[in-house]
Amino acid sequence: MSKRIAIIGAGPAGLGAAYRLQELGYDDWVLYEKNNYVGGLAASFRDEHGFTWDIGGHVLFSRYEYFTRLVLSLLGDEYLEHERVSWVRVLDTWVPYPFQNNIRYLPPAAQLECVLGLLDAALDGRDPKSAKNFRDWTLAVFGEGIAQYFMLPYNFKVWAYPPELMSKDWIAERVSVVDIRRVLSNILLHRDDVRWGPNSKFIFPLAGGTGEIFRRLAGRLPREKLVLGKEVAAVDWRRRELHFADGSGAEYDFLINTMPLDRLIAAMPQVPEEVRSAAQSLVHNGVLVVGIGIRQECPRKWCWMYFPEGNCPFYRVTYFSNYSPNNVPGPGYYSLMCETSYSAHKPEDKGGIVQRTIDGLVAAGLLSRTDCNDIVSTWVLDAEYAYPVPSLERDRALSAIQAWLREAGIYSCGRFGGWRYEEANMDHSLMQGAELARRVAFHGDTVIAHV
Ligand SMILES: Cc1cc2nc3c(=O)[nH]c(=O)nc-3n(C[C@H](O)[C@H](O)[C@H](O)COP(=O)(O)OP(=O)(O)OC[C@H]3O[C@@H](n4cnc5c(N)ncnc54)[C@H](O)[C@@H]3O)c2cc1C
Repeated sequence: MSKRIAIIGAGPAGLGAAYRLQELGYDDWVLYEKNNYVGGLAASFRDEHGFTWDIGGHVLFSRYEYFTRLVLSLLGDEYLEHERVSWVRVLDTWVPYPFQNNIRYLPPAAQLECVLGLLDAALDGRDPKSAKNFRDWTLAVFGEGIAQYFMLPYNFKVWAYPPELMSKDWIAERVSVVDIRRVLSNILLHRDDVRWGPNSKFIFPLAGGTGEIFRRLAGRLPREKLVLGKEVAAVDWRRRELHFADGSGAEYDFLINTMPLDRLIAAMPQVPEEVRSAAQSLVHNGVLVVGIGIRQECPRKWCWMYFPEGNCPFYRVTYFSNYSPNNVPGPGYYSLMCETSYSAHKPEDKGGIVQRTIDGLVAAGLLSRTDCNDIVSTWVLDAEYAYPVPSLERDRALSAIQAWLREAGIYSCGRFGGWRYEEANMDHSLMQGAELARRVAFHGDTVIAHV
């Protein structure tokens, strides 16, 4: 008897799982997705005015060969390559990213504060490794100046969660740290230093936005196994049954989950109390994505900008038309995609977000009031689950939840199925799905579910 693998969610993780099973010749699987489109948070949308939008700026880069090969095989030659051109807006000045390597762009008094802060932090001998939370880590690595001008306000704007309640263990290559010799050399030699990081070069689909990759991936799967518009409402883990919002049900032997872990646990009856409370302790933010389409030539060749200050609601804006000319209706148009996070710690007025975004673009120097007359499209998407926050309790909670789920034959991965921000990009998510699928179908070399 073949064992049926059910997959929840057709984002990169769920599609990665399904594709890998198919690739390995294991065909007793079925995927259920609540939306009537695939791609999850990596989906893209075309608005009624002909502008294409992602759910926030998606930058595609990876160190996984399998992922890169797969994406290139899906896109063929239909992609564009970009070099990151990224800036930070501070004190009415544009500072190239990474901020700390380019503080020579700041007014002199602020430069001095940043340098003295770095020196104090170094002389203080505070060991960032022993910092208890993200705030202490930031102060120990960057010192007061850089922390106050950029790191702390920016991170609060993104995460919508106090940095003192976040762990520091997710940082690795997600935050550019600092080399004081390099900072001083850049200031004194008037040198730009913009190359840091894994995403300094990236590719983007020629048409259809980031979501095109996942539409094409889904296109390689048998249609009848990809069940769209099917929301899992409850998981009866004892009987190994899924119950859908439309009242129907399905059996499974193994379950690969990519829906948010807290929602999965809430949808399961008779979960041990410590697992239920661990799931309730997981923290996430939401992001309001506002697209602004403008009938003008694009004024800059930039990719994206960071906004730590309080004069605008968004933490990041992308010149999305610069990623592909097909992201706009035609020549003579450009587009700005703006992201504003929210949470109980940082409530946002959702109803007024378009006007506040436009006002913020003016305050931040990206649009003039006259430019606003050329806005021809506004588009809003509310991503309720956007960033899985690395809270102080997270790792303990995840160990309890994942261990219990595995006992119940449920394997959970992906951005919110895994809830680990440091492994929650498209490539991580797809690879986790693919790898879990292989392990579930083939335990080592032993087939635990028949091919
Ligand atoms: C603002 C923002 C910017 C980002 N920028 C980047 C970037 O620059 N580079 C990068 O690589 N990644 C980026 N990401 C991350 C990227 O979007 C995720 O890595 C990826 O989408 C995660 O895939 P996933 O399959 O794990 O989860 P998701 O994409 O969330 O997919 C989960 C799927 O499960 C479905 N689902 C949920 N509940 C149910 C249910 N009850 N029943 C059935 N189906 C259900 C959902 O509808 C969804 O389709 C960004 C994300 C955000 C929010």
